[in-house]
Amino acid sequence: MNKISLVVTVDYEVFGNGSGCVESCVLGPARKILDIMNHYSAPLTLFADIPEFIAMETYKRPLVHEIKKQLVETQLSGGDVQLHIHPQWYRAHHLFDDRWQLDMSKWRIADQSTSVINHLIVASVDWLDALFKEHSIDYECYAFRAGGWCIQPSKELARILIENGLRVDSSVAPGHVFRDSNEWYDFSVYPRDPYWRFSDDVCVSEEPGIWEFPITTGTVSKWSHLATLLRSRGSKGLAQNCKGNYGGPSSKLKKVANRLEKLRRLGTVMLDISTLSVDQMKQLSEQWLEKYIKKNKKISLVAIGHTKNFSENSSRNFEKYLSWASANGIQFSTFKKVMKSVEYENG
Ligand SMILES: [Zn+2]
Repeated sequence: MNKISLVVTVDYEVFGNGSGCVESCVLGPARKILDIMNHYSAPLTLFADIPEFIAMETYKRPLVHEIKKQLVETQLSGGDVQLHIHPQWYRAHHLFDDRWQLDMSKWRIADQSTSVINHLIVASVDWLDALFKEHSIDYECYAFRAGGWCIQPSKELARILIENGLRVDSSVAPGHVFRDSNEWYDFSVYPRDPYWRFSDDVCVSEEPGIWEFPITTGTVSKWSHLATLLRSRGSKGLAQNCKGNYGGPSSKLKKVANRLEKLRRLGTVMLDISTLSVDQMKQLSEQWLEKYIKKNKKISLVAIGHTKNFSENSSRNFEKYLSWASANGIQFSTFKKVMKSVEYENG
């Protein structure tokens, strides 16, 4: 039986500061990704930022109906709609000039109080449950990814996730570190396994607990990474007609420092279907498989992408990557299927 699975995940959202239109930055690119996936009968996992859709619904934004329709279609086509949370949308205000006023001090979910984390998770899970119940679809919200990968410190968050029936997390990008007081994560130390369980620290394997299926990461040459970054600058690096900007919670001065830090870390990348070339995606997949195949365990590759930067170029690369994966016997899967087979294997 095939041991290698690929879970393709896409963070389904506008930009983190509320910019970007729903049609061109979310619905349109998701349609393209779904078309490519359907061609290979591959299920797509959408990590939908539910707090933003709750805000859109509160302010009666017209396209939220189209979002709901697409989430239902994804689930019905064999895909998987799961939970992504950007807490800055908590009590967001929609302004008269069609902009959003978000609370950027709430960027990191792990820094929020127990009651805010609890509220965000319960309200989001309820929203998803109600949506699928309305369409009589058998549904379970069981997987989570923290907005901006900011899951640490993970103890309280993990407790609340488990309390609400979630069993999988996919926020960790092994080897990735980003240090800014407002939006940090540190995955420099992690279990040398393709997946593990944790109940306190997301980077420490501990049973029983919630499954961590980390995002596949690896290295490409610094030049190749730099070329990719340069190619995707400006509108070329965004979905067709999508306009928005990556404004975060940090000051301009810090942003300059962050850019320098990113340059220093050139070459360490995630298996990103939006930004990497097909050769880089293959290279990363092969590295990951090589690293873990010796352990004779089931292996899961987890790819990540974002609707807003799924460009014309991404479409071409992603199509070729799926064709390569399919030709190499890699099984397209969902977290639920992978989790079940791993639990079966582990008895
Ligand atoms: Zn996100």
